[in-house]
Amino acid sequence: METLTQPEALNFECETGNYHTFCPISCVAWLYQKIEDSFFLVIGTKTCGYFLQNAMGVMIFAEPRYAMAELEEGDISAQLNDFDELKRLCLQIKRDRNPSVIVWIGTCTTEIIKMDLEGLAPKLEAELGIPIVTARANGLDYAFTQGEDTVLAAMAAKCPEKAPVMESQKQERNAISQLLNFGKKKEEVAADESEYVNHTPLVLFGSLPDPVVTQLTLELKKQGIKVSGWLPSKRYTELPVLEEGYYVSGMNPFLSRTATTLMRRRKCKLIGAPFPIGPDGTRAWIEKICSVFNIEPKGLDEREAQIWASLEDYLQIVRGKSVFFMGDNLLEISLARFLIRCGMTCPEIGIPYMDKRYQAAELELLEKTCHEMGVPTPRIVEKPDNYNQIQRIYEQNIDLVITGMAHANPLEARGINTKWSVEFTFAQIHGFGNARDILELVTRPLRRNNSLKDLGWGNLVKEGAKV
Ligand code: SF4
Repeated sequence: METLTQPEALNFECETGNYHTFCPISCVAWLYQKIEDSFFLVIGTKTCGYFLQNAMGVMIFAEPRYAMAELEEGDISAQLNDFDELKRLCLQIKRDRNPSVIVWIGTCTTEIIKMDLEGLAPKLEAELGIPIVTARANGLDYAFTQGEDTVLAAMAAKCPEKAPVMESQKQERNAISQLLNFGKKKEEVAADESEYVNHTPLVLFGSLPDPVVTQLTLELKKQGIKVSGWLPSKRYTELPVLEEGYYVSGMNPFLSRTATTLMRRRKCKLIGAPFPIGPDGTRAWIEKICSVFNIEPKGLDEREAQIWASLEDYLQIVRGKSVFFMGDNLLEISLARFLIRCGMTCPEIGIPYMDKRYQAAELELLEKTCHEMGVPTPRIVEKPDNYNQIQRIYEQNIDLVITGMAHANPLEARGINTKWSVEFTFAQIHGFGNARDILELVTRPLRRNNSLKDLGWGNLVKEGAKV
């Protein structure tokens, strides 16, 4: 007789928070590239400077639009005047680079000496004539990608409240439609506009590379949904209008503060959808937005099936293998959900911080995916302990560990395949078209170690050196 088992629910745990991740100030690396007329000033110490200098690799030689305001002994003991010091630096930035916005990034030190950046910013803004956005992206409170969340939450407050009335201003603000309509005649643009369904404006938030922005905007256009703007936009001067009652939707799982700010301070309505990572996620994301606007989604079945078919060569490599997320960038739930759909098993998802409310739809999809694929649901470990995780990786005989650089080489030397987690943050992983890129990353170590396995060098550490 068959016994009916109750499907397992997701299992949440919390460990010590003793794990490796990037400091959230690293968000300047991608945000200064995304927002072309910005300048980021990190107000911290040499520790922060060393980190950025090393983490950003070759970008550091490309005259980046970021700088460190390095605090001195005199700043810490309040012998120097914070306001005058910051004014001097910002004047220099204005003279040399003339940005449209200066973003101050608060660090651990400014937090501990209680430097009142939020209080200083408006005064200096008035004197300088350049907007100053203050974000506390420090290592005391946040992990890695959450840095972007603090910056976007601060920027949400700077988005204009009313749609411009003048035609010329409208054009200036709406960079996306300009991009999509590039090279088209006026009549063609008008015909294009008529394809949209009449709905409440929708603004998407999350910093994505420009090609991905275009892809996702077009993906929604196919369903007749018009994207009114993105936070952030390519330029600070093109920040989207946010009126009360507008719909917003997050592109990344780490943007919970931004979502909260948009809902509470800007009175926008959040569409809580799974994130458009992997073909399954992208489809669920589009379906959710369509359902909010009462639109019957068109052609998604075929579209998704076609993408899965094109991934078959990669799927053959990953099917049946196990993957373990040590957890450092908050993309873990979405990536695990996609990889389980690809046929992998996932005993553990480590994650720095879990906002169950903001990620609710994603968690639901993860649970559903596990049941449909017939695999056990993963344990979700918030604030993981890397030391304990290594023990579990040994015990469970994991095929692929997704981890930071600190553990990657030591694990490889012990014969365990690893993938460096940070690459997922910088690669293009959103939308239907980029599912292949995720699998390209995931399968790379498996393919490489497969072609090298005959050499017999799988394990390179002395016997007994376990950890
Ligand atoms: S953790 Fe704190 S001190 Fe270290 S780099 Fe980040 S902000 Fe600076």
